[in-house]
Amino acid sequence: MDIVLTGDRPTGRLHLGHYVGSLKRRVELQNSGKYEKIYIMIADMQALSDNADNIEKIRNSLSEVALDYLACGLNPQKSTIFIQSQIPELSEISFYYMNLVTVSRLQRNPTVKNEIQMRGFKQSIPVGFFTYPISQAADITAFKANIIPVGEDQLPMIEQTREIVRSFNTLYKEVLVEPTAVLPNNQICSRLPGLDGANKMSKSLGNCIYLSDSSDDIKKKIQSMFTDPTHLRVEDPGHTENNPVFIYLDAFCEDKHFAAFWPEYQNLDELKAHYRRGGLGDSKVKKFLNEILQNELRPIREKREELAKDLPYIFDMLKQGSEKARIVATQTLDEMKSAMGINYYR
Ligand code: ATP
Ligand code: MG
Repeated sequence: MDIVLTGDRPTGRLHLGHYVGSLKRRVELQNSGKYEKIYIMIADMQALSDNADNIEKIRNSLSEVALDYLACGLNPQKSTIFIQSQIPELSEISFYYMNLVTVSRLQRNPTVKNEIQMRGFKQSIPVGFFTYPISQAADITAFKANIIPVGEDQLPMIEQTREIVRSFNTLYKEVLVEPTAVLPNNQICSRLPGLDGANKMSKSLGNCIYLSDSSDDIKKKIQSMFTDPTHLRVEDPGHTENNPVFIYLDAFCEDKHFAAFWPEYQNLDELKAHYRRGGLGDSKVKKFLNEILQNELRPIREKREELAKDLPYIFDMLKQGSEKARIVATQTLDEMKSAMGINYYR
């Protein structure tokens, strides 16, 4: 049977990109009952690799991310939610994997390249950050996970993990399982752009609508969103491609939303056609998007506010999840060490 693993860096609250790119899918997988195990990891060690000077942010974000999880419908009875740093076996596994990967292979990893650029590291890249694909391989393989639901930016990571698994299994013994990345069903959800329209929505870039944003914040953020720069007057023809407002509609809008909030149109195709012809102002489209997002995020926010009243419960849940996960990681590490022949005392 299949084993699922995914995770997030506790570098801030979770946003719409996480929601469409990963969280929604996780909840579906969890509730389908088709999977032997589902592991959800809060990757605090990975977050430290580019935030060593900002422990406070990581600490605070831990519970924020956990609240986002539960508010979206992850259920600790069905999914094992755990904290990376509470499982030292993961670091030990990473250390052995470091011998199976070359520096030039890491330098060629497109996600690492891109993230180094995004963070402006230039030449001063922390070694821990540079090697995070290796630690990610440890996280996945420690649980023998074969299904990894992720956004598009993570594909090179999964590829790197597969290579490490093959090296290990060939060099020593068939112990590890090769994972497969599972992307969202559509391209937009794999890489939701930020409010700036330029980059992917990312905590580190501050171009996000957060799941926990107040209804006022959501409205303001949508109002100030980037649209089509050539659509100056209402009567001008507009472009719907590369226009974040329409990209968000592609990700969230269903026909039922027209019936509920804008009965003048039947569906998104009709709305787009009107925008392209001209005569449709951005503010009307933004108002519609606002209705849709408010409707989607309200129940999540309300559940989150309820859960936030009992933080000790959240930490207890994380502790129990981490204890459960540690047993599994220890077992895999034992198998690995036997395969490598470094179980000296047995
Ligand atoms: P950071 O800026 O700290 O890296 P992030 O916003 O990129 O944060 P991560 O914790 O790195 O978030 O990513 C967690 C998961 O969410 C990954 O599977 C990633 O592919 C997915 N994801 C992140 N951003 C988006 C996005 N804009 N659209 C779709 N999926 C996303
Ligand atoms: Mg990221």
